[in-house]
Amino acid sequence: MSNEYKPDTLGVRAGGLRSDFQEHSEALALTTSFVYKSAAEAARKFANEEPGNIYSRFTNPTVKMFQDRLAALEGAEACVATATGMAAVATLALGLLKSGDHIIAARGVFGTVVPLFDQILARLGIATTWVPLTDIDGWKRAVRRETRLLFIETPSNPACEVADIAALADIAHGAAAVLAVDNCMCSPALQRPIEFGADLVVHSATKYLDGQGRVLAGAIAGRADLVTGPLFNFVRTAGPAISPFNAWICLKGMETLRLRMNAQSANALELARWLEAQPAVERVNYPGLDSHPRHALAMRQQSAGGAVLSFVVKGGREAAWRVIDATKLVSITANFGDVKTTICHPATTTHGRIPPAERDASGIVEGLVRLGVGLEDPSDVRADLERGLEG
Ligand SMILES: *Cc1c(COP(=O)(O)O)cnc(C)c1O
Repeated sequence: MSNEYKPDTLGVRAGGLRSDFQEHSEALALTTSFVYKSAAEAARKFANEEPGNIYSRFTNPTVKMFQDRLAALEGAEACVATATGMAAVATLALGLLKSGDHIIAARGVFGTVVPLFDQILARLGIATTWVPLTDIDGWKRAVRRETRLLFIETPSNPACEVADIAALADIAHGAAAVLAVDNCMCSPALQRPIEFGADLVVHSATKYLDGQGRVLAGAIAGRADLVTGPLFNFVRTAGPAISPFNAWICLKGMETLRLRMNAQSANALELARWLEAQPAVERVNYPGLDSHPRHALAMRQQSAGGAVLSFVVKGGREAAWRVIDATKLVSITANFGDVKTTICHPATTTHGRIPPAERDASGIVEGLVRLGVGLEDPSDVRADLERGLEG
C-alpha cells in the first residue's frame, strides 16, 4: 500500500494482506510452518530464490502485516518484530555490535536496559557510557573511535525528559554510528523519530501498539540495510521471534492507535494541569505542560504530550506510597499503554535494579509516582488521586 496515504488511513489499512479466503479482517496465521508443492519448491524458498513463507520464526504473514503496518506508520523502510520490547533492544545490540564496540546511552532509559547493557553486553566486551539525555556536550564528549550505537528514549519513562533527536542524530552520524530511538512513550501516532534523523526506532509494542495490556511484543523499524540485513538475520538465527498471535493483536490494536493516543494525551494533559495546582505535589513531569523545561522542543517533535506523566509528591517514598495505596479505580501495576489508567512507584519497581545514586540523577526520586493515563473520565481518576494527596 502506498505510503502517500495519511497516517489515519495507514493505521487502518497499511500492510493488510488477504489469503485465498478473501477475509476482510486480517487473518491470524497461527501456524509454525508452511507447506510446499514439491521438494524443489521447498529448496527454492530456503535458498531465497522464490519468495514465500517458510517457518514462523522468520516468516509469517500475520507478522509481516504487523511489521509492514508499523513501518508505514513510522515512515520506515523496513521493520522486524520481536517477542518483547526488551528482545527488540537486545536484538538491536547483538545484531549490530561486536566485542570492542561502544554504546552511548541515555540515563533514564527503560530500567531493564541498564542491566542488559551494563551486565550482559559488558560481559561480551561491549561497553556503555551513560549520559544525561539532554546534555548535548556530554554526548559529544562521550564519542569514541569504537562508538557504534547511540540509544535514547524520548520522552523518557518515567521522568518525561525530552531529547533533541536531530542534534543526537548529527552526533551519531558524525561518528559513523547509528541513532536508535525507543519510541514507546509516544508511538508513531504522536512522534516519528525517523523524520528527525533517527536510523532506527525501537518499540515495546506491549504498550500502545497493543493498547489494551494483553500481549508482549516488540519491533525495530528503520533503515532497510540494517533491518532486513543483520537485525532480521539475528531474529531468524537466535530466535527472539514474535508469536503470530501477539503480532495479530498489535496489528489490530494499531487500527485505533491514533484515536487512543489523542484521547489519552488529552486526559493526561488535563490531569497534569490539575496535579500541578495541588499543594501536596512538588513537581509534575509532562512534556505537554508549559512548565516542562523542553516544552517547545517536545511540541516540535510530538503532536501531543503523550499519555504518561509523573509527579513528585512532597514527603518522599511514604507520601508517594500513600497516594498509590489510596487509589481504588486506578490499577497499581508496572505496565502503561493500556486504556485503563495505571499507577506505580518507579524507584521500588520498574527502576529498582538501578543503583540509587544513578536513579536520583535520572530524576527517579523516592517521591516520584508514574501515571499511565487511560480512557476513563479524567474526573474519576482525579477523585481517585485526590484521596491520597489530601491524606
Ligand atoms: C516496557 C518498555 C520496554 C520493554 O518492553 P517489554 O515489552 O516489556 O519487554 C522498553 N522500553 C520502554 C520505554 C518501555 O516502556
